[in-house]
Amino acid sequence: MGYQAPIRDMKFLFDDVLKLDRFSNLEGFADAPKDVRDQILEEGAKFCENVLAPLNSVGDKQGCKLNPDNTVTVPDGFTEAYHALVEAGWPLLSADPNYGGQGLPHVVNMAYSEMTSSANMAFGMYPGLTHGCYSAIHEGGTDEQKDLYLPKLASGEWAGTMNLTEPHCGTDLGLLRTKAVPQADGTYKISGQKIWISGGEHSMTDNHIHLVLARIEGAPAGVKGISLFIVPKFIVHKDGSLGERNTVTCVGLEEKMGIHGNATCVMQYEEATGYLIGEPNKGLSIMFVMMNEARLGVGLQGMAVGESAYQAALSFAKDRRQGRSLTGPKEPDQPADNILVHPDVRRMLMDIKAHTEGGRAFLYWTALYGDLLHKSPDEAVRQKAGDYMSLLTPVLKAYLTDKGHKNASDALQVHGGSGFTEHYQASQFLRDSKIAMIYEGTNGVQALDLVGRKLAANGGRAIQTFFAEIDAFVAEHEGDADLAPFIAGLASARAQLQDATMWLMANGMSNFDNAGASSHDYLHVFGLTGLAYMWALMAKAAYAKAGTEPFYDTKIKTGRYFVDRILPEIAGHLAKVKTGAAPVMALSAEEF
Ligand SMILES: Cc1cc2nc3c(=O)[nH]c(=O)nc-3n(C[C@H](O)[C@H](O)[C@H](O)COP(=O)(O)OP(=O)(O)OC[C@H]3O[C@@H](n4cnc5c(N)ncnc54)[C@H](O)[C@@H]3O)c2cc1C
Repeated sequence: MGYQAPIRDMKFLFDDVLKLDRFSNLEGFADAPKDVRDQILEEGAKFCENVLAPLNSVGDKQGCKLNPDNTVTVPDGFTEAYHALVEAGWPLLSADPNYGGQGLPHVVNMAYSEMTSSANMAFGMYPGLTHGCYSAIHEGGTDEQKDLYLPKLASGEWAGTMNLTEPHCGTDLGLLRTKAVPQADGTYKISGQKIWISGGEHSMTDNHIHLVLARIEGAPAGVKGISLFIVPKFIVHKDGSLGERNTVTCVGLEEKMGIHGNATCVMQYEEATGYLIGEPNKGLSIMFVMMNEARLGVGLQGMAVGESAYQAALSFAKDRRQGRSLTGPKEPDQPADNILVHPDVRRMLMDIKAHTEGGRAFLYWTALYGDLLHKSPDEAVRQKAGDYMSLLTPVLKAYLTDKGHKNASDALQVHGGSGFTEHYQASQFLRDSKIAMIYEGTNGVQALDLVGRKLAANGGRAIQTFFAEIDAFVAEHEGDADLAPFIAGLASARAQLQDATMWLMANGMSNFDNAGASSHDYLHVFGLTGLAYMWALMAKAAYAKAGTEPFYDTKIKTGRYFVDRILPEIAGHLAKVKTGAAPVMALSAEEF
């Protein structure tokens, strides 16, 4: 059995945990009452299960091909699936109605995106990056640029890409060399090479809109001299019709360990016509709109691939018969029990399940704040939402992709030797999930962003708000016997996150290497605390309906597994935070 979208869990989050109907007074939410949401989930599930999932291993095995004329051929079935996606209007779900979108909440769209990434991560990146490009132009473009590009980007009729990376310039964007020369007509000539550009070239769409970071001649060195340009593959005339082919070419495709169905392109810009977005030298701030959206999307990929890997491992475990249960045969008439009887196999499956369901809640909960940031009439809510989005984006990106890859590894382990062969999809999930830890800023860089920038912003307002929210929840439920283990776990995690934060404040500023050496473990303390809160919220919602449906009892048991078996990891991470830089930096360069 292939991928089955977890729509029961998604409905639980929408209806019982986030209670989306509370927001029906807000723009977009009014158009997404429960029956509409349910229909979106059910139709989205059909599309992802029946159209995208069957192409996942086709994409993995075939990969993309660069042709002698510099066009790129995507795997069999991808073009038809892409056209079906556009035809069905899926990319329009949460796009702005001014540009043809349906204007539904992002949190609803997130569930659909999750299904896409679970069903076929490599395919899902094509519309995913297009949406990011749409958002950046929506944020920073002129009205004219918006009118010209947004409708076709929103619908997915044109593809969008992001072009930051150059051969010598990955994390350190200050090294960027791609050059932009101003022309008399107000356009720019863009020249340089960008590498590893996802979806940089293919023929699934009529046009590509490349967002390119470049340095205008004479601009200051470093990140202060970077501007952002729209570089269309085909120039778009004022009336929207397509003109001549621009001088941007795909000159190479990467051989990769995973996401083979996504074309990872070397893009050569030879005096290509580009249009500045926003102010000169201020390009990074607009590109960050795209990058922040993509970072949440990448965190989502980590969780989503974990879900697919879990489903595959569970299905294998139910079939595979080896040995007997330690407490006596469970199916004596069979030659052996299935491996689901073994506690060690259960441990791996439960680890994945508890992380994935907790991660899903954390992402949707944060996505709801993304909606409130734009739609709430209450300024205090908008401020809190903005603070949370900013603080939590690196946590979600890095924690959920670290765990997503670990989940895919555990899922492969459940398969035994079969997982190491290519007869099963387990190895694809493991290979695909790795890139999510690397692109959109490596997880190490996310951790530095968290401790170096996000924590201290506005005098630490965001984390103080997060602590206050948890404290209020703990105080409200302190006497609740059902929730007692969840509340105790949450209160302890919160105390340890505060401890780690205080340690960083006391030791990170006096020696930046202390902050750098502790950042990975600090981010994991944060991720675990976030999941502890999510499991407490989910347990509360599940207890309210316990006994009405087995789903709720299973949810509570899974939550207890998280509290008893996963949350204790926080103490190990806290201990590592507090060692600081000394053991990490002890060796001289020569001693390595
Ligand atoms: C399949 C794939 C698709 C991609 N898609 C795109 C795309 O569409 N558009 C695009 O522009 N780019 C894309 N990228 C590039 C990607 O975003 C970069 O690979 C990533 O940002 C890391 O840069 P790098 O590979 O140069 O690593 P480096 O920057 O060289 O980093 C190497 C190591 O050093 C660490 N490191 C670097 N600097 C620091 C620091 N200051 N502090 C601590 N540690 C540090 C990193 O964490 C990493 O472990 C893609 C890459 C791949 C592989």
